[in-house]
Amino acid sequence: MSAFVGTYAEELIKNAKYIATPGKGILAAHESTGTIGKRLSSISVENIESNRKALRQLLFTSPNALSYLSGVILFEETLYQKTFDGKPFVQVLEENNVVPGIKVEKGTVEIAGTNGETTTQGFDSLGARCQQYYKAGARFSKWRAVLKIGPNEPSELSIQQNAQGLARYAIICQENGLVPIVEPEVLTHGPHDIQKCATVTESMLVAVYKALNEHHVLLEGTLLKPNMVTPGSDSPKVATEVIAQYTVTALRRTVSAAVPEIVFLSGGQSEEEATVNLDAMNKLEVLKPWTLSFSFGRALQQSTLKTWGGKKENVAKAQEAFLSRCKANSEATLGKYSGGSAGGLASESLFVKGYKY
Ligand code: 13P
Repeated sequence: MSAFVGTYAEELIKNAKYIATPGKGILAAHESTGTIGKRLSSISVENIESNRKALRQLLFTSPNALSYLSGVILFEETLYQKTFDGKPFVQVLEENNVVPGIKVEKGTVEIAGTNGETTTQGFDSLGARCQQYYKAGARFSKWRAVLKIGPNEPSELSIQQNAQGLARYAIICQENGLVPIVEPEVLTHGPHDIQKCATVTESMLVAVYKALNEHHVLLEGTLLKPNMVTPGSDSPKVATEVIAQYTVTALRRTVSAAVPEIVFLSGGQSEEEATVNLDAMNKLEVLKPWTLSFSFGRALQQSTLKTWGGKKENVAKAQEAFLSRCKANSEATLGKYSGGSAGGLASESLFVKGYKY
């Protein structure tokens, strides 16, 4: 299966490798206008452009925090936004050696005839949009496909549709200079045990890498963003070491060694849970041909958001909270996190049934 080698091949490999720098991870700050609205309303802040900008500015100008990040995923509005002093956010990131990324998908829609399974939309003019995003400074992208676990789910139809969708998205991004983050998320919701989650995650990843190969995707110029393998939300919890073992085993069985990095989503885990699980994986003494890092949304922002509360006088404290999560997760990518950065807020579960990005 020959990989596509286009104009951007070298650049894609270089950028993917840079994002995979050990000790650094990705901040997922690409919440759509609707999703950021839910976050802002949780702290009683109105969902208007200046408030969305204030939150993003707080994150991106947080002293020292960016030294723990190699990438930030933006929503289209943020890609073109400037700080209140008039500096483009893209420039703020670039000056701190952080690569700007962009969410290019447009959410999920139900697949007819299934029990609430979905496929991801956003193919219309995707190539042209990628070109515009590249011009604006974006160098990587993300597309989230969602799988659910149920008595008969995921269906073969959902696995195939979502794997094909991810592969089609990935090759279009590569043709236009963006490193695609391939994100098949198996949702946590349900009473299933960890073994069930492992089986579904492995089946999905097998389908995803088959599709990526069939579509001639240059794997060296991609990143994978999977869920961690955990028991369902209505099932008893298991030890961190068990999650680490199941997750790394599933990835070793399915993900090509040509992929430079795997960056996890947090998927409703508390900030502290997500960090200790990542740390435990990096402590495991088995061969891992990729770096294992983070691309957390909720698990990097929750305590910052709560500490900020939309108030100017809280910005410095909120930035300290953000720095502390970035540093903790950076240590976890090296298997060197010893805990202790968890205030009460960092341990709060962020799981919401049927959560929509
Ligand atoms: P969470 O870490 O909040 O799950 O978000 C990551 C993400 O990018 C989901 O699309």
